[in-house]
Amino acid sequence: MSFAASAVIHRDHLRHNLGVVRAARPDTCVMAMVKANAYGHGLVEVARALSGADSLAVARPEEAEALRAAGVDTDIVLLEGVFDAPGMATADALGCELVVHTPEQIALLAAHRADARFTVWLKVDTGMNRLGFPVAALDDAERALRDLPQVAELRLMSHYASADAEDGAQLAEQRKRLEARLARFDGVVSLANSPAALRAEALGADVPPASDWIRPGVALYGISPFGGVAAESLGLKPVMDFETRLIAVRDLEAGDRVGYGGRYTAKGPMRLGIAAAGYGDGYPRRMPDGTPVLVDGQAAGIAGRVSMDMLGIDVTQVPDAHVGSTVRLWGAGLPAEAIAQACDTIAYELVTRVSERVTRVYR
Ligand SMILES: *Cc1c(COP(=O)(O)O)cnc(C)c1O
Repeated sequence: MSFAASAVIHRDHLRHNLGVVRAARPDTCVMAMVKANAYGHGLVEVARALSGADSLAVARPEEAEALRAAGVDTDIVLLEGVFDAPGMATADALGCELVVHTPEQIALLAAHRADARFTVWLKVDTGMNRLGFPVAALDDAERALRDLPQVAELRLMSHYASADAEDGAQLAEQRKRLEARLARFDGVVSLANSPAALRAEALGADVPPASDWIRPGVALYGISPFGGVAAESLGLKPVMDFETRLIAVRDLEAGDRVGYGGRYTAKGPMRLGIAAAGYGDGYPRRMPDGTPVLVDGQAAGIAGRVSMDMLGIDVTQVPDAHVGSTVRLWGAGLPAEAIAQACDTIAYELVTRVSERVTRVYR
């Protein structure tokens, strides 16, 4: 029995969530996002569990290398493309699909061996202003790519900035920028991330027309992309249980202070548990007193500033709490979305920042 923090990853929930997303958009292919160590869940194991996806997408060539080295043979998309000739050679050797979003990347492709054959996703910027050719530059970029022997198939991709927002104005604006151009594009198109794919189910309104490929990330991990909509109500199951154990329990009296800076002061007699997880494991230091945790399945709240390896928990209401009690920091019964809200971030960041020393246990 380990007393260190662990992240239990439920493979069956990954597959279940993929099914939920597929059922929501039955006529589309699924490009499953496994970038950033599969949102902290473990790149290779998640990729294996998601073998039912039509392709996988990563941000860096190194991630694609790790997948191929582990024997994953699903198609892999490099979401940012490559930036130099060695990167292009790697993408070629690994059989990756490329996103192309700059003129420099077109030139790199043109300079690569002429008998290479890539599936290329031409990225168009419709208003997010992150990656992509402006709509006005699309004709030239498309022409240049269609002229290259290295481009076996040309596809189109764009990304929404606010698909999770109840107010669909920016979404509609982005969609409108592309509308006319889409009709003239001969090839498949990918627009929707998790919130765009599940918008109808979650918010009921202004569904963007389905694209040929959807690109779910966070939904596959059982996290709701919508502020006010619970994952459970979308039929999603949380994939990660972030857990540790109590390594000490003590009694405090009124006025006793807890942890660095003495941020928490006992209001009366209380029991304090010390759990073996801290910001060194990815549990944010800025979590406020009272942030919920589950101790042996019962509700409790943190007390005192989170340390590097430990945190305090008021276990007064959990009389059976003892050294060895299980502490759930988020997961089943305690959505990461709610914990994220408590410290003013999003669940994406919480799960992605679970640190390397935390053992992932696959079930
Ligand atoms: C990360 C990412 C996604 C997935 O976004 P979610 O909100 O996690 O579904 C989709 N498309 C692109 C380009 C991305 O970078």
